[in-house]
Amino acid sequence: MSNAKALRPIPATLIPGDGIGPEITEAVVSILDALGTPFEWDRQVGGMAAIKEGGDPLPSSLIDSIRRTKLALKGPLTTPVSGGFRSVNVRLREEFGLYANLRPAKTMMPGGRYDDIDIVLVRENLEGLYVGFEHYIAVGDDPQAVAISSGINTRSEARRIIRFAFEYALRHGRKKVTIVHKANVLKALTGLFLEAGREIAREYEGRVQMDERIVDACAMQLVLNPWQFDVIVTTNLFGDILSDLIAGLIGGLGMAPGANIGESAAIFEAVHGSAPDIAGQGVANPLAMLLAAALMLDHISLGDQANRLRAAVLRTLRDNVRTRDLGGAASTKDFASAIVARL
Ligand code: NAD
Repeated sequence: MSNAKALRPIPATLIPGDGIGPEITEAVVSILDALGTPFEWDRQVGGMAAIKEGGDPLPSSLIDSIRRTKLALKGPLTTPVSGGFRSVNVRLREEFGLYANLRPAKTMMPGGRYDDIDIVLVRENLEGLYVGFEHYIAVGDDPQAVAISSGINTRSEARRIIRFAFEYALRHGRKKVTIVHKANVLKALTGLFLEAGREIAREYEGRVQMDERIVDACAMQLVLNPWQFDVIVTTNLFGDILSDLIAGLIGGLGMAPGANIGESAAIFEAVHGSAPDIAGQGVANPLAMLLAAALMLDHISLGDQANRLRAAVLRTLRDNVRTRDLGGAASTKDFASAIVARL
């Protein structure tokens, strides 16, 4: 904390979000304050909270704030299933061109089903089947008899995300990048991605190994022998699914942080959603959002603070202070205080 005064203040947008969002945000901010991080928070509403205030779930004030700060810590936002709202998360990624979704998963609680997991998943964040080009075709009296969805992958984005994965591997002393695809069936959509992967991998020959897997086989191998994986790079939908699988290897969604990174902004968040089933009870696990804040500190070259934070989390878990989802009985607030006591 003593070095806090020496750090230049860094403006950052804070979006508490919906459901458990405000509870975990309060816990995370209290821990970051105790750590002495230099963030100057600009609090913004989004999601259901913004709809309740009578507007768009992605208000222009929120967008303006991120445009100014280029850095955001975001709680989960609820996307109503009906009502025609596009996912706020997808819109934010598009608005700021956040092409890389980085989801590191590292074992923090020994003695679980899998020990010593250390996998970084890099997900393409803007293209594929998530572009939302969908429509129905009516047949007879059924207006929605046929559903059609088109995916889009471009060579330029495939190259950019795969290069991001190899550069990440180099910078972090990682040995191998596995390209995950389904080029045997989706020959154009994911064949293009695999082709770009093979091309980029040649530039890194001798420095980072390249490996490839078909997504279904990869899912099985992640369960049977996850230790064979190091960095994984894949298209949007496969990355979304595999990253939840990988989160399951390290104790579940409560432990999994994510970073959405673009050329001009970066947004950090938990992988999990707003958990309406436990919202307001004060029992949510703030770790995923806290570990996202650690990624944010890494991103702005405050790796020392990030490491201090992760070390305090490790000590807390090893002292058996845990929230309910991790088999413990600590409330969100008690868990946060326990981490602060170990900083
Ligand atoms: P969810 O991740 O919110 O919850 C899944 C399960 O995990 C629930 O049982 C929940 O209680 C538990 N859980 C999640 N986070 C937890 C935590 N921190 N501590 C303890 N338990 C936790 O997924 P869902 O229920 O499918 O989605 C709810 C809403 O969240 C939906 O509207 C969805 O669109 C949205 N969502 C938002 C984001 C985001 O903002 N990035 C991501 C995923 C889902």
